[in-house]
Amino acid sequence: MASEQSWKNKYQQVLKEAEQQEQRCKEQRDLLERMLVRTSVASEGQRPELDRLLNQLRADLRRKTLNTEKWLHLQDQIDRQIALLDEQAPAPFEKAPVEPCPAAETDDGIDIADQDHRLLIARRVGQLLSQVLAQVTLEPEAETKAKELQQTLLSSIDWSTLRESLESVSELLILAITRNQRELEAFLTRLNDRLETLREHFSYQTESNSSRKDDTEVLDQEIRHEIDLVSDDIRSSDDLDSLKRSVGQRLDQIGSALGRFKAKESQRERMMAEQLESMQQKMAAMEASSARMQEQIRRERARAMTDLLTQLPNREAWQERLHFEYSRWQRYGHPLTVSVVDIDLFKRINDTYGHKAGDRVLQLVARELQGRLRATDFIARIGGEEFALLLPETSMNEAVSVLNKLRGYVEKLPFHFGGNPVSITFSSGLAQFGQGDSEEQAFDRADRALYRAKATGRNRVVAN
Ligand code: GH3
Ligand code: MG
Ligand code: MG
Repeated sequence: MASEQSWKNKYQQVLKEAEQQEQRCKEQRDLLERMLVRTSVASEGQRPELDRLLNQLRADLRRKTLNTEKWLHLQDQIDRQIALLDEQAPAPFEKAPVEPCPAAETDDGIDIADQDHRLLIARRVGQLLSQVLAQVTLEPEAETKAKELQQTLLSSIDWSTLRESLESVSELLILAITRNQRELEAFLTRLNDRLETLREHFSYQTESNSSRKDDTEVLDQEIRHEIDLVSDDIRSSDDLDSLKRSVGQRLDQIGSALGRFKAKESQRERMMAEQLESMQQKMAAMEASSARMQEQIRRERARAMTDLLTQLPNREAWQERLHFEYSRWQRYGHPLTVSVVDIDLFKRINDTYGHKAGDRVLQLVARELQGRLRATDFIARIGGEEFALLLPETSMNEAVSVLNKLRGYVEKLPFHFGGNPVSITFSSGLAQFGQGDSEEQAFDRADRALYRAKATGRNRVVAN
């Protein structure tokens, strides 16, 4: 009896342990599934086929219908896509880090994959917001609000806060745009006022000219009239005294006519001087406000042409310069070489030492490259870790040696991460503009040469 009781206890104990074990397994499995969903969302945006497979994987996970054989096949296909990634161009955009998610299902019933998508979008908007803020001018109050919004978008994991922030972003952008419009409108109104003043001045001058003409005619008639009267007096008079008197009266008449004319003339001059003075003041104010406007436009244009992180010219600036150098090359035919530079295995830097370390590398490499170039050369950041260079008056051979020297300098930059020295290298493809090339063709050749440099071991310069 006693032994039966002891077996029963043992059995219950084992059963309890088995249940606990099963519960732990379930929790671990849930955790792994959630991580799988999150990792798959974070890996999106590289290849459409890979996105499709990852989507399928998440759908299976959601439905909890795991078929081992099907999954082995799926895994095979995903592996193949990942292998292809090594050979392809960089991803169209870089994903922002995602904060950990606390539960498989959130309070408002959004599933994890959906929530991760939303978080990614919010993070991306947060990053874009900083770029937009660098391009527009906001009132100080709106600027502070924008910074707070950006902070929320980059760090919050609460969807309702994020949703409100996203809505505020659009309000902010409208505010920024209307502010610029308002400034331009105010400038145009001021300009219009000044032009109106000018028009008034000229119409006054015309009026005053015509009244001057009238007055001159009146004076002329009055003098003629008096002279006629004098002639009549002379002809009809036989008494010298009365002749003297009447001639004297006529001369007085002429004198007062002249006096009236002079008074009007000086009044006109006074008015003209006042008008001129006020016009000069208005013109000076107009010049000052147009200079301010020009300066603002110049600053905004410079900001729109500069890459925020590295302070190098950006892709827009590159297009403009390429167009300029291309036209010069067509006109004078001097050699012009283009180079595309791409940092080697940069993703590893981000993955191993963090995104901030990656940013610092980009800044230092950009500074090094720009600092080593001639003043007539041009460098722009045209993508994540890609730079494009234009070397005017430089043949292919010379350009290869310039790029190899730059490669040497960059390789020797003393990077230290976590106390360890790390060497950063780049690969470059080069092409010289030649007969019949369009603006893009030489660049495309350089880009193809870059991929040959990557395929043949990286840290090298390949001429097309
Ligand atoms: P490869 O030698 O073939 O060029 O390899 P790679 O790792 O350099 O190239 P890949 O295109 O795979 O990765 C480029 C990485 O650059 C991916 C992206 O996260 C990172 N990146 C792009 N822009 C930025 C940025 O502004 N800052 C940081 N830190 N990383 C960036
Ligand atoms: Mg790249
Ligand atoms: Mg690279």
